[in-house]
Amino acid sequence: MPNQPLCSSVFSFGETCLPSPLQRFQPDWAGAEQVELWIKRDDLIHPIVSGNKWRKLSAVLGSYADRTGALPAHIISFGGGFSNHLHALGFLCHTADIRFTAIVRGHYQHNPTPMLRDLMQWGTDLSYVNKTDYRQRSEAPYLAALQQRYPEALVIPEGGSAQEALTGMGQLVEEIRGGLATFDHIACPVASGATLAGIAAALQGREQALGIAVLKGQEYLETLVENLSPHAPANWHIDHAHCGQGYAKTSPELTQFCSDLQCQYALAVEPVYSGKLFMGIRKKLAAGDFTPGSRIVLVHTGGLQGARR
Ligand SMILES: *Cc1c(COP(=O)(O)O)cnc(C)c1O
Repeated sequence: MPNQPLCSSVFSFGETCLPSPLQRFQPDWAGAEQVELWIKRDDLIHPIVSGNKWRKLSAVLGSYADRTGALPAHIISFGGGFSNHLHALGFLCHTADIRFTAIVRGHYQHNPTPMLRDLMQWGTDLSYVNKTDYRQRSEAPYLAALQQRYPEALVIPEGGSAQEALTGMGQLVEEIRGGLATFDHIACPVASGATLAGIAAALQGREQALGIAVLKGQEYLETLVENLSPHAPANWHIDHAHCGQGYAKTSPELTQFCSDLQCQYALAVEPVYSGKLFMGIRKKLAAGDFTPGSRIVLVHTGGLQGARR
């Protein structure tokens, strides 16, 4: 993957932990003894730019640098007040001295979240918009106007889900293959769908990608994944049963589950993405949803910064 070293060296990412660790996981959950579980610890890739955001953004920026011979002078992107994507991108831009404009859904001027405070410290231009304006973020006329206003800028979609991000996720599959000769399923949380689409596109043979939806989006999420990788074979599936009351909505059960995982297995997860993934898998194991003997890799996508309140 030529993008990786270029981008790593540009950002002098000495602390980057790649390939991320692949660890055997043996919880005392009902049904877990029937299968073989592994965790791909993408949460450990970097202390700030964790998980799938590193994979996606390093590929997006690496491909830009390959095309133009340099990193962009200015980046514009979108997200909510707790966005892991804006946080990761804010840190990358700060480190590489790139001007960064973050278009944020909601008016947080008077009560910035911990994520927004970090962005301020990193010199991000913050532009707060209401829900209606935010809805235009992927509409062609709006994007064209934005590009005209900032001709030098690279505009990255919400969540970093550009086409190039899929390549970055493919690298994750290669790393797993380097550690395990064979596996049956790779499971990950699904929000913008790029993580799942990128994993699915890199699978071979009977390998399957399993997405756990973290928001209410039956059909909507499937369409996102299909649009990102229309040519991928049908080797992926999204389970919608574990999204709870919706995006970033937690429940006493989920909160308890996250704290148990921390206590019992020293595994830190947050309730927005990885908590729902692990709890979803526990339920699926109890329901006997996996063929006995299956080897299942759970991708810990990181994102713990977003759980700060
Ligand atoms: C953004 C994010 C996801 C969702 O990934 P998509 O590619 O948008 O589906 C999952 N986990 C964490 C921790 C994230 O920050």
